Amino acid sequence: MRYISSTNSAIRRFKKKRSSDLVKEPSTITLRASQRMTLRECPRKYYYSNVAGLRSLTPSIEQRAFSFGTAMHKVLEGFYKLPNDRRTLKYLTSKWRSVSRDLDDEHKELGLGMVRGYYDWVSVMDSGRFITISSEKRLGMKVKTPIGDVQFSGQMDSLWLEKQTGKLYIIDHKTYTNFPSDHFFNNNPQMYSYLLLLQKNGLTASGFIFNILRKVSHVEPAVNKDGSLSIRNANVSEKSFVETAERCGIDLADPRYAEFLDKIRQFPAYKRVEQEIIVSKLKQAERELQVEATALLNFYKFGFYSVPGDHCAYCSFKHLCDVQSSGGNVRETIEKNYSVSGTLLETEL
Ligand code: SF4
Repeated sequence: MRYISSTNSAIRRFKKKRSSDLVKEPSTITLRASQRMTLRECPRKYYYSNVAGLRSLTPSIEQRAFSFGTAMHKVLEGFYKLPNDRRTLKYLTSKWRSVSRDLDDEHKELGLGMVRGYYDWVSVMDSGRFITISSEKRLGMKVKTPIGDVQFSGQMDSLWLEKQTGKLYIIDHKTYTNFPSDHFFNNNPQMYSYLLLLQKNGLTASGFIFNILRKVSHVEPAVNKDGSLSIRNANVSEKSFVETAERCGIDLADPRYAEFLDKIRQFPAYKRVEQEIIVSKLKQAERELQVEATALLNFYKFGFYSVPGDHCAYCSFKHLCDVQSSGGNVRETIEKNYSVSGTLLETEL
């Protein structure tokens, strides 16, 4: 009981903090939780994207996917800020229409179908299990290294409180074409960095939840001319299929429908991956963060090297990287092909 009440007061204090209160000591070099995967994968890509702030003037597939993911995040952020009884399908669809204005028609349609299916899924999945404590709050801390300090910050998508247990969960919304393997989630540095940030700011969490939306556009179940339900398109939600069957007086015990429902369940469009916090992993995450912060300071000093690999196929900076590796004119290539919102380092030109 004491534990619960002290947690509640910590939650109240946390909720009162504004994002701007939390990053107190600005440092010249910063690292964000969401950028750590890129830094690990290829330091040069990290430089192009996060230090120089380059954006291709002709958006690449990677940038279009990023814009789509950002728009979907905005919808989910707004949705989970609302009290449970105001989380409606109407909200989701109108919010999607307003945040997707700059996307192409294909992505607009895809997102609309996704939020429709998500509503069906989540209204069964959640049914009031969680309360949202915060959304998109930026937290900061200083990471001390032997060669200097790095200002580390991160913005959790959400922090949810499980009503029955009083446990807090750090939430990350993800959109993917296909669900990644469990290995990916077990080795994602982002979530433990959020936990470190949360602990620095007076709270702790019991687990992580990846809330994953697969890029599948949902359709309404189609009714055939003879009154049966179409089982040709599996991109229908289980909820809407069952409701349509009930409305049409269709018996779902029919083996064809039972098989179809099994198929929908086996290839879901939405998924939650829940993970408990493992203390040894938290300690490891703290060490890894310090190593990455040290490496980042060294990259600023000695240059951001490239790590070529399969991932280059999706890199928005492939052309620029080739020019730089072959000793070509980097400055001219940037001027012709990219907008710049950050700092171009002399060592990289
Ligand atoms: S093309 Fe490959 S090596 Fe070059 S910046 Fe991109 S990911 Fe790194």
